[in-house]
This record gives sequence, C-alpha cells and structure tokens, in this order.
Amino acid sequence: EKIDFIAYFHEVIDRFDMNIPEHITLQRELPKKHYFVWMDKDKMTQVLDNIISNAIKYSPEGGTIRLRVEKQRHRLLISIQDQGLGITYDKLDKIFDRFYRADKARTRKLGGTGLGLAISKELVEAHYGKIWAKSKEGKGTTVLFTLPLMNQKRGDRK
Ligand code: ATP
Ligand code: MG
Repeated sequence: EKIDFIAYFHEVIDRFDMNIPEHITLQRELPKKHYFVWMDKDKMTQVLDNIISNAIKYSPEGGTIRLRVEKQRHRLLISIQDQGLGITYDKLDKIFDRFYRADKARTRKLGGTGLGLAISKELVEAHYGKIWAKSKEGKGTTVLFTLPLMNQKRGDRK
C-alpha cells in the first residue's frame, strides 16, 4: 500500500522511545516532507525493528543512535547508526547471511539466532531496495538501506 514513509518512521521510533533503556538516546534526522513509498507496512516494520534492536543490543555502553532519512533522486536512503563495538571489515557482508553471528563469545550472552539481518535483506530486496552496512571497530556501525520512491510530484508540495 502507499505509505508516507516519514510519518510511518516516526511512529516506529516513537514505539521504541517508549521502552528504551535509559542510557540510550534515539536521535532523529528526518526530513519534514511527505515521501511516499509503496510497501508492506508489517514487513517494513520487521526490517526496522530488527535493525534498531540490533543497534540497541550491540551498543553496550549506550550512547546515541542516529536514525536518518535522506532523499536521493528516485529513492530514500534510510540509515541507522550506532556507537557500539562495531564489526570488522571482513565480517561486514557476512552479517546478512543466515545464522551468522560475528564474535560468538561477545554476542552469545546477548541472545539471538543470527536470522534478523538475513530476513531484513530479503524483505528490503522484495521492496526493490538494497541493504548494506558500514562499520569502524570501536566506533560503531551504520546499517543503510534504500527504498524506491513513488512519483513525488504531489508529495513534494505538501
Ligand atoms: P536475531 O536478530 O536473529 O535475534 P542477531 O541479532 O544475532 O540475532 P542479526 O540481526 O542477523 O542476528 O545480526 C547478525 C550479527 O551481526 C549479529 O550477531 C552481530 O554479531 C552483528 N551485528 C548486527 N548488527 C550489529 C550492530 N549494530 N553492531 C555490531 N554488530 C552487529
Ligand atoms: Mg538481530
């Protein structure tokens, strides 16, 4: 269905804000515009829930999580950036594989099956988007994905 992505993203973040650990701050950088995306809301919520949960889960020292949306030509670029432990370069692509969990010793106590990002990748691609990650060990991780925009002519003016 046709969704105002920014309004929808605010709702998702609001839900996290209501029961987030006290030491973690969610910082929004969302355009004040209407950008329409053709999507399955429940599936997109699964994608965002997993990425934001990861950002929280893998940020042991807390800090700030930046949630950004940028408009690029015919798509939106959504990024979720944490200040957690990061992921080494050689493992960055693998985190989207089924059952892959980087640094077993570190993540074992944090629970999880290693399926979250594999499912997120499938769902983003089903929406004709791409997903990838950037990371600096010790500095944090950014997970990014794109979604094609619907014809913007009306939405831009509102
Ligand atoms: P699940 O999501 O199934 O509960 P999970 O969180 O371990 O388990 P994924 O979400 O698929 O699985 O993530 C795969 C692995 O990628 C994680 O185990 C973790 O090692 C690494 N990872 C994912 N997101 C981050 C992040 N924000 N910071 C550091 N490492 C991350
Ligand atoms: Mg996960």
